[in-house]
Amino acid sequence: MVKKPRRLKKLTLTRRIVQWSILLLFLSPMVLVKVESDNFFYGSLVSSSIFGISLTDPFAALQILMATREISFVYMGGALIIFLFYLLIRGRVFCSWVCPMNTLLELTDKLRRFIKLPNLELNRHHKKYYAAAVIVLSFLIGIPLFEIFSPIGYIMKGLLFSAGIGMWLIVSIVLFELLVSKRGWCRYLCPLGGFYQSIGKAGLFQVKFDHDVCVGCDKCRSVCFSHPEILEPGIFRESQYIKDDDCSLCGACVDNCPFDALEITVRETPIVTNQYYDKKSHQK
Ligand code: SF4
Ligand code: SF4
Repeated sequence: MVKKPRRLKKLTLTRRIVQWSILLLFLSPMVLVKVESDNFFYGSLVSSSIFGISLTDPFAALQILMATREISFVYMGGALIIFLFYLLIRGRVFCSWVCPMNTLLELTDKLRRFIKLPNLELNRHHKKYYAAAVIVLSFLIGIPLFEIFSPIGYIMKGLLFSAGIGMWLIVSIVLFELLVSKRGWCRYLCPLGGFYQSIGKAGLFQVKFDHDVCVGCDKCRSVCFSHPEILEPGIFRESQYIKDDDCSLCGACVDNCPFDALEITVRETPIVTNQYYDKKSHQK
């Protein structure tokens, strides 16, 4: 097989533009509000309004529902829009394309490339249970628990630049990812990531392997945002598609494969029959 020359990492570049645009959008009310009181956009990642349409983070809406035991139709309607969006695309797309915490934590990955550091591995499926625990605890104590301590919220409030519990929480997570566990918060601990992981098997898009071209070089595993093991069924030719609920469609594997063996495609078959088609294409 012919190794392709270095080329533009289109998906990674697009993702960076989307990440920073979203971050600037959420910071824009601080600037725009001084110019004009009726902005086209205001709010935070938890709850916002764009051109008069209310949008709510579904995980936050669920916690608020449990904590207050009252249904707010504005919150629930906005949450349904966002929930259906991620259900249609793929759950953890939020993590790699939208979450500002990930935008910050990806920098630790770059630092880790220069220094050999320990890498504590935990069970990545447990974060779904942490999400469920947050919902139950919100109900029991009457407080939307993750929203109070969410590092994402602290970043958006700008506490990173001032003293306080928010700054120390963010610094602790950065140090944990840098010194203890590669992508540890995002891969193993974040309840919001766990919430989106729980709907991560649905969605129209998947990474597809071309087994005629893949040489098993392992490069894709080394760059995977979510966890190297989610690419194994493809590399070991057990499946032509990455169906793991943790795949965030970050595109790093696609961009970094030296043989162009990967692409992000629209799902061709319903999820329940994928296994059958995988076996069939394997027998050819
Ligand atoms: S798909 Fe992964 S293992 Fe296969 S050639 Fe590309 S980088 Fe190597
Ligand atoms: S499998 Fe590919 S697209 Fe999915 S999270 Fe890993 S690197 Fe990103």
